[in-house]
Amino acid sequence: MYLDNSATTRVNDEVLEEMLPYFNEEFGNPSTLYSIGRESKKALELARQRIADSINAKSDEIIFTSGGSESDNLAIKGIAFKLQKKGRHIITSEIEHPAVKETLYFLESLDFKVTYLPVYENGIIKIEDLKEAITPETILITIMHGNNEIGTLQPIEEIGQIAHDNGIVFHTDAVQTFGKVEIDVEKQNIDLLSVSSHKINGPKGVGAIYIKKGIRLVPLIHGGGQERGIRSGTENVPGIVGFGKAAELACSNLEEHAQKQSKIRDEIIEKVLDKIPEAYLNGDRNQRLPNVINFRFKAIEGESLILLLDANGYQTSTGSACSSKTLEASPVLTALGLDPVDVHGSLRISLSPDTGDFDVDDFVDVIAKSVERLRQMSPLWNNDLDYNKIVGRK
Ligand SMILES: *Cc1c(COP(=O)(O)O)cnc(C)c1O
Repeated sequence: MYLDNSATTRVNDEVLEEMLPYFNEEFGNPSTLYSIGRESKKALELARQRIADSINAKSDEIIFTSGGSESDNLAIKGIAFKLQKKGRHIITSEIEHPAVKETLYFLESLDFKVTYLPVYENGIIKIEDLKEAITPETILITIMHGNNEIGTLQPIEEIGQIAHDNGIVFHTDAVQTFGKVEIDVEKQNIDLLSVSSHKINGPKGVGAIYIKKGIRLVPLIHGGGQERGIRSGTENVPGIVGFGKAAELACSNLEEHAQKQSKIRDEIIEKVLDKIPEAYLNGDRNQRLPNVINFRFKAIEGESLILLLDANGYQTSTGSACSSKTLEASPVLTALGLDPVDVHGSLRISLSPDTGDFDVDDFVDVIAKSVERLRQMSPLWNNDLDYNKIVGRK
């Protein structure tokens, strides 16, 4: 049972089928004029239209990239370099994906100033904090739509409104929400938006950025002038075709998928909190993605729990794929103000439309037994010992 769909997803069969001819039969370069090139160009433009339609954009506002990370880099560096004479201040949140956070650290090394808004216990920024952070130097607000670790949703429509009231460009990383939560770039006041194919049952290594008409930015990749000069390099036609199909499938069935997944999500949350002592949900209970759950269990080491669940046939994760490699305390969970020992005992469960029939009771049972077993071995969970004393807390 694969339950780590926030990390990546399986390519949908229909998506794969639509991609295949573009590897060999229709291998033309979309920038050429003869018929096989024109076929590739047609496929490229259909995919562009599908992405545009799904977020209420126009097709010439969509630029294809190599994925969510590149789109984030292009949005942030592209605006920073373009507008640096106007100002050098950027506002973001404390729980951005590394593709945003590391890009901002890089810009700080070039003397840009960045404000990181706190997200408090529920994992959501406060609009008041945003208003206070704005200065005459602020050129960009970049705040994610849905968080990849805890699943919380930020109030992007309001954020966009405030940005525009103050003449500031607004970028949002919508990699986790695209195809799962309604996005309307007009209504939600979005200037730049990042999306990725492999989080919505499309292929890896392809993504897109929405750039509102009239917004100018500096390209990261210079070359032959593809993608209106904003992203040079021959397009990944098979990947883009797959992405377009995946977007169409996800967005045309969005309501149905969201309902199905949030039902399973809510059942898991209820049963885990009910059955397991000292279990907590990370992030706001309601303002969250339909497919993401993040728990923490007192006195549990997340990695051990993941391994036990895997041994029982459930593939889940602790923190994000990015931070689990380094074994550092998750910066996202730390930003919720949790005790440092508590951030290590987290479990992320992320569903997808193809999650299929799901025996929630069995799954919750396996989690409960695993947690109990680990606690029996944990010095932090020994009734004879004072937990707070062990972790050095009064
Ligand atoms: C996965 C992810 C990214 C990176 O996308 P890639 O296509 O893997 O580069 C960026 N932001 C968020 C929120 C993500 O979940």
